[in-house]
Amino acid sequence: MIKEIKKIALLTSGGDASGMNASIRAITRYAKYKSLEVVGFYEGFKGLIANNYVMLDQASVGGIIDRGGTILYSARSEEFKTEPGMQKAIQNLKNIGVDGLIVIGGDGSFRGAHDLHIRGVQVVGIPGTIDNDIAGTDYSIGFDTALNVIIDLVSKIRDTAFSHDRLFVIEVMGRSSGIIAINAGVACAADYILIPEVEVDLVKIATKIKNHRQGKRHTLIIVAEGAAKASDVAASIKLLVGHEVRVSVLGHIQRGGSPSAMDRLLSAEFSKKAVDLLIKGESDCMTAIQGKKIVSVPFEYVINNKKEIDRELYKLAHVLS
Ligand code: ATP
Repeated sequence: MIKEIKKIALLTSGGDASGMNASIRAITRYAKYKSLEVVGFYEGFKGLIANNYVMLDQASVGGIIDRGGTILYSARSEEFKTEPGMQKAIQNLKNIGVDGLIVIGGDGSFRGAHDLHIRGVQVVGIPGTIDNDIAGTDYSIGFDTALNVIIDLVSKIRDTAFSHDRLFVIEVMGRSSGIIAINAGVACAADYILIPEVEVDLVKIATKIKNHRQGKRHTLIIVAEGAAKASDVAASIKLLVGHEVRVSVLGHIQRGGSPSAMDRLLSAEFSKKAVDLLIKGESDCMTAIQGKKIVSVPFEYVINNKKEIDRELYKLAHVLS
């Protein structure tokens, strides 16, 4: 027998991603359509432990679909990783009468969500991280917006690089994954892409640049932050090529901005799926998009697998450059 759900809670956790607000809105509005009560916890698992929450309704999530960040704020919580911390969180959910929880975040957040499930909490996840490094889903919320922000910024750099015959090293986010760098590299027509998954051979790149630059008025190298420091790459290339090299670290600006059409649509579809999963009594899983289908993937799979980079796309980027 499936337990009837009357009240659900949601929270945003880990790094903020554009589209989290669109998800908060869609979860709340769809849950209300299904006659459920909705509780929003502030600051992710930290707020769950502190019992810091707000009741959400149709009106309270109005006017946020186009806003980046998250109105429920996000935080990292070490306390949540401890047994007493987790027990406090579970007790708070019980005290408020929450039947099911939706966690919007990255794979770290889903490790926490899986731990809650093991301790009897009904919980599902929505992938929300600009890194798009979550196994089991083609896309996570925030990735497309971040990519569009990067395209806009790199286009501006390209203008000045072209005008002044410059070599630019541009650092993008991606501590342990080159997924953003590869996609940005293809979309921005970068000449070289450095990612953590592939060993960096700067001598080879410098030789290519020397040959390649004849007749070219700009060279763009995109570096994922986990592959190397842009300033180190620039210093080495300058030494090897003998040409002035400029550095641009895009930083947190990549996280901000109004969500793209794709992230808004994904937020709507993931949110509906997450609420439906809770109503059906499902737990311990994440909403995902595979091809054009919205599906669910067990947390067990998500947290035990690393999303691979698209090596064909990586190769293609260099063929086209
Ligand atoms: P992003 O990819 O954007 O950084 P994330 O969800 O992976 O998002 P994390 O900082 O890894 O971000 O995790 C968010 C929170 O999830 C942590 O602060 C912690 O409270 C919880 N968490 C992470 N790993 C675990 C774990 N192994 N066990 C329990 N809780 C965890």
